[in-house]
Amino acid sequence: MDEFELIGRYFAPLGRSGGDVIRGIGDDAAIVQLPPGQRLVVAVDTLVEGRHFPPDIAPEALGYRAAAVNLSDLAAMAAQPRYALLALTMPTAEHAWLSAFARGFAAALSGADCVLIGGDTTRGPLTVTVQVLGTVADHALTRDAAQPGDLVLVSGTLGDARAALDVMDRVGDADADFLRARFERPTPRLALATALAPWVHAAIDVSDGLVQDLGHIAAASAVGLEIELAKLPLSESLSRTVDAAQALVYAATGGDDYELAFTVAAAQLDRVLATAASAGERVSVIGRVCEGSGVRCFGADGRQVVPAQPGYRHFD
Ligand code: ADP
Ligand code: MG
Repeated sequence: MDEFELIGRYFAPLGRSGGDVIRGIGDDAAIVQLPPGQRLVVAVDTLVEGRHFPPDIAPEALGYRAAAVNLSDLAAMAAQPRYALLALTMPTAEHAWLSAFARGFAAALSGADCVLIGGDTTRGPLTVTVQVLGTVADHALTRDAAQPGDLVLVSGTLGDARAALDVMDRVGDADADFLRARFERPTPRLALATALAPWVHAAIDVSDGLVQDLGHIAAASAVGLEIELAKLPLSESLSRTVDAAQALVYAATGGDDYELAFTVAAAQLDRVLATAASAGERVSVIGRVCEGSGVRCFGADGRQVVPAQPGYRHFD
């Protein structure tokens, strides 16, 4: 199987031509027609074996995750995903691996109404780079718009994906299965972000660890954030799998959850909670925005807690 057969068999079926896709997979570059008046929102993320995923990850999970983490970046901007490009580097081309990878990748893309329009295929150490292109009509969410007096909220639950790494090999355990699914199939909060966008001031997706990622909002918005650790939303599976102190560390600093962290004016809280509830999504108030700088965490006793590591950093 050469490179072109491979593209034709596994990836061309994820594309389409016609309508807004003037040229999809198969030419030197893709051409798309954007709706008038919309802005383009673009993100790219690379997953490297051994760094972003364990070497024995199921290929279907890898495909899903590679798409989902990028779609999550578009969710954080409240953009509608439209197109994706996939640059795949792998040591060998194996049918079972490629078909499972493509299946997972397609599942994540189709869940977001996003179509594959191109990519690149090369031999080398397993590395998956995905670029996503989305559009937004007017109100894109950014990190720099938090205001003192805002509340800080987060979607879903935190810490599950980090705990999954502890239980990768545990079989026949429903909690371990739940945690692994949270790592392997993160849910980009696209519909929630779009529904809440009119009231959201600043937003980010939690990829590297809540405290570290909120630090980006604090820095970009030139404000301080105060987080109450007791309010971090934890899944029952996480609470049953690790002790309470470990659960808090994972929730505050673990990363890989791809939940949405955002700030809203306190006066809009009821409306935000009602909108999230009618979308069937969980959101929790975890703190507030104040004058100052940085992120400060407080325990249930009101004392400040300083995490050993705010989150994941490359080149540390
Ligand atoms: P070029 O040599 O012009 O860069 P390629 O041989 O890399 O072209 O790719 C041929 C076509 O297949 C292009 O449309 C490219 O976007 C697409 N393509 C290559 N690899 C992938 C992939 N993994 N997924 C989707 N499309 C791909
Ligand atoms: Mg190429």
